[in-house]
Amino acid sequence: MDFSRVQLSGEEQAFHDRVRKFLDTHVTDDVRRRDRETGDNFDEGVHLAMGADGWLSAELNTGGEGGMTRVQRRLWDLERRRVHVPWVTWGTTAIVAASVEHFGSLELRNEVLPRVASGQVRLCLGYTEPDGGSDVATCKTKAVRDGEQWIINGSKMFTTGAHNCQYVFLITNTDNEARKHKSLTMFLVPLDTPGIEIQGIRTVDGDRTNIVYYTDVRVDDKYRLGEVNDGWRVLLQPLAVEHGVVDADADGLQDVSIMVHQGTMMATSVDRIAGIAGRQGPDGRRLIDDGAVAYRLGRSIARMEAALSAPSMFGRVAVAQTMRDISPDLMDLLGAASALPIDAEGAADQGGAEYVYRWAPLCGIYGGTLEVFRNMIAEHVLGLGRANYSAPVAAKR
Ligand SMILES: Cc1cc2nc3c(=O)[nH]c(=O)nc-3n(C[C@H](O)[C@H](O)[C@H](O)COP(=O)(O)OP(=O)(O)OC[C@H]3O[C@@H](n4cnc5c(N)ncnc54)[C@H](O)[C@@H]3O)c2cc1C
Repeated sequence: MDFSRVQLSGEEQAFHDRVRKFLDTHVTDDVRRRDRETGDNFDEGVHLAMGADGWLSAELNTGGEGGMTRVQRRLWDLERRRVHVPWVTWGTTAIVAASVEHFGSLELRNEVLPRVASGQVRLCLGYTEPDGGSDVATCKTKAVRDGEQWIINGSKMFTTGAHNCQYVFLITNTDNEARKHKSLTMFLVPLDTPGIEIQGIRTVDGDRTNIVYYTDVRVDDKYRLGEVNDGWRVLLQPLAVEHGVVDADADGLQDVSIMVHQGTMMATSVDRIAGIAGRQGPDGRRLIDDGAVAYRLGRSIARMEAALSAPSMFGRVAVAQTMRDISPDLMDLLGAASALPIDAEGAADQGGAEYVYRWAPLCGIYGGTLEVFRNMIAEHVLGLGRANYSAPVAAKR
């Protein structure tokens, strides 16, 4: 890993200026306020502007023509995060677009990919079902072949962004008799197909996600990705990206783990609280002069720094766990006004710690729960073998 500072060339500096100008023009306070209100993590105006200005096709094309260099890509990522671009729907779109590129027919690629690049088409993930999401291969949503079409029935939980998307990347079961990893077929289902009903769900941190019902939904075979009953192969790469198990490059020009966006929000809140703790109150005293405050704040900062430095899956677990662990402590240091949310008058730290507190549980669930990640680390990184969930064997007398 290379920790040296990157010296920007004149061209890179000009690129940086162009990114800032674009983002400052389009990602306004109004956009951020609306995003907090809707919980959508998506803004159509910003998204279409990114499409029109070529940012989405550059995102899709990092290595190729129209793409960004590694340094440009890093500048774009950091600036985008700095201004809080509503981004979740692009995240899912980019993951699925790669699968369409790889597994879609020419006809499907031509139908979808140019409009992904222009921003008119967005894609979401239809994996989780009401009965469980950790084991995505245990899929009850059925697809049954009918000539050149498929008929889909079932329901999917937490299809984030479905109400702002045009297609869903859907896991279906196409063989009741087969072993579960041999029973799946993937489709890219147009969300305006009759029989699809999207219902909104708001989470405790204010995010909007959806439950989506599929009742006798008919899709043409051209919307199938990969072979019938070979959906697990199609899913492997998207799951690896979502889990953050893709290897980091040695140049250091990328996040050390996924969830750095969440970690940065935590760091911003901690910085603000450290500033408040060092200021004199009306009685002339500073919070930090209380040894208990200094100890708890220092401990929170140390944990946060460790989490932000942990790589790969370790970082993903450490960031979400640290958000859960330190946010109650930080709120406690600030007193009752820390319970007021962002935008509320009198909020102790502009609602930062309170937001992290409500967001933290979800960060330990989506894209895989902390328990499941810990098992993956145990099995795949530490080589401890598969977790065993069988009932304990009764001790012999
Ligand atoms: C805000 C939000 C957005 C989401 N967005 C999407 C999306 O866009 N698309 C999508 O398909 N899904 C999405 N999800 C779903 C998410 O991926 C699942 O919630 C997650 O995988 C866990 O599945 P589950 O909630 O069904 O819990 P379950 O799988 O039912 O698990 C219940 C509990 O059992 C534990 N558990 C389960 N299996 C194991 C195991 N093997 N070892 C140890 N413990 C285990 C879990 O940790 C958890 O505590 C989203 C979830 C949230 C909260």
